[in-house]
Amino acid sequence: MSARPLLNRRLEGLGTTIFAEMSALAVATGAINLGQGFPDTDGPRSVREAAVRALRDGRGNQYPPGPGVPELRTAVAEHQKRFHGLSFDPDTEVLVTAGATEAIAAAMLALLEPGDEVIAFEPFYDSYAASIAMAGGVRVPLTLHAPDFRPDLDALRAAITPRTRLLLLNSPHNPTGMVLTPAELAALAELAVAHDLLVVTDEVYEHVTFDGATHTPLISLPGMRERTVSISSAGKTFSFTGWKVGWVTGCPELVAAVRTAKQFLTYVASGPFQYAVAEALALPDTYYDSLRTDLQAKRDLLAAGLTDAGFTVYRPRGTYFLTTDIAELAPGTDALTFCRQLPERCGVVAIPNSVFHDHPTAGRTQVRFAFCKQPHVLAEAADRLRKAFAR
Ligand code: PMP
Ligand code: GLN
Repeated sequence: MSARPLLNRRLEGLGTTIFAEMSALAVATGAINLGQGFPDTDGPRSVREAAVRALRDGRGNQYPPGPGVPELRTAVAEHQKRFHGLSFDPDTEVLVTAGATEAIAAAMLALLEPGDEVIAFEPFYDSYAASIAMAGGVRVPLTLHAPDFRPDLDALRAAITPRTRLLLLNSPHNPTGMVLTPAELAALAELAVAHDLLVVTDEVYEHVTFDGATHTPLISLPGMRERTVSISSAGKTFSFTGWKVGWVTGCPELVAAVRTAKQFLTYVASGPFQYAVAEALALPDTYYDSLRTDLQAKRDLLAAGLTDAGFTVYRPRGTYFLTTDIAELAPGTDALTFCRQLPERCGVVAIPNSVFHDHPTAGRTQVRFAFCKQPHVLAEAADRLRKAFAR
C-alpha cells in the first residue's frame, strides 16, 4: 500500500461525528443521554399507524418516485401555505429527501464549484462542514457569540468576497437556540440580493420556538424566491428522527438542480414513511401548539436544574437544545474534556459546542444539553449534575 491516506483530503479531520461518539459513550456507561438530539418518546400514534398502514397496503415498499410521493409533495406545499403563506407547486417546487441532511448535502453538491465560499453561522451543525467539504467548497464561519448569539451583520458584510457563492443559514439555530428576528431576516435578504448570493436555509426547528418567537422562512422575503433553497424535515416536528424524511422547497430551477445531485445520493428513501409524514403535516394546530408548549416547559425545567447545579445557562428561543457555559463550574476545563468525563463523573452525556467551531475560543467552555426528554429524565439528570458539582 502507498503511504497515501485512505481518506481523501476533503474529509480529513472530520472523523466520527460527536453525536455518534457521545451516544456510544452513553450506551457504554449507562448514562442519561442529553447529547444527541432525539426525543425519548415517539411521535403521534396516528402517524405511526399511518406508516404501518402504508407498509401493509404496499404503498412505498418499492421505489417511490424520485421527487417523492405526490401525497407528500402536496402535503409539504399545503404546510408551507398554511403556516407561512407561501405557494409552491408540488410538481416542480417540492423535493422529498432522506432527511434534511441529504437535502443540505445535495444542495452543496449541486450549487458549488470547487473553491466557492460558503458563509455559515458557527457553531454549525456538524454535517455542514462535511457537506461543504465534499462539494469542494470553502467554509467561512460567522461566529455567534454568547450571551445572545446574534449574527454580527457587519462581520457578515466583511466576510463576503467575490468568491462567496452562498449563505447556509440555520434558524432556529442548533445549538445556541438563537432565532433570527424580522430585522435580521430583512438585512440578510438585502445582503443576499445586493451580492447576488444563493441562500440555503435549514429550518428543521421551524415549529420549535418559545416565548412568542416565531419562525419566518427567509424565502418569503422580497428577492429571495429565486435564490433560496428552503429545507425542513419531519424528524424534529413529529418526533420521528429515525424515519429520515426531509424536503426542499424553492423555485423550479433550484429544486431541479438539487434534485440532480440528490438522485445520485440515495435516489429515493423512506417509501412508506413518506405517506405517514403526509398525514402528519396535516395534523391540527393543537398538535403544533402542544409540541411548542411541551418543549418550552421542558426547557424551563432543565434550565432551572442546570442553573441550580452551577452552569451558566443561555436560554434558547428555539430548538430543543440549550447551551451552557462551564467556565465557573469547572475552571480551566474545556468543553470537550468536560463532556468526555461527564458520564463517568455523574452519568450524564452532553455535547461540547467547541467541536462546531472554527473559532479558536468562542465555544471553548460551552456545553449543549438536549431537553427533548421526559420530565423525570431531565429532573434526574439535573439532580446528578447538582450532586456532582456541589460546592
Ligand atoms: N439541521 C439541523 C440544524 C439539525 O439539528 C439536524 C439534526 N437533527 C438536521 C439538520 C438533520 O435533520 P434530519 O435528521 O432530517 O436529516
Ligand atoms: N441533529 C441532532 C443533534 O444536533 C443529531 C443528528 C445526528 O446525529 N446526525 O443532536
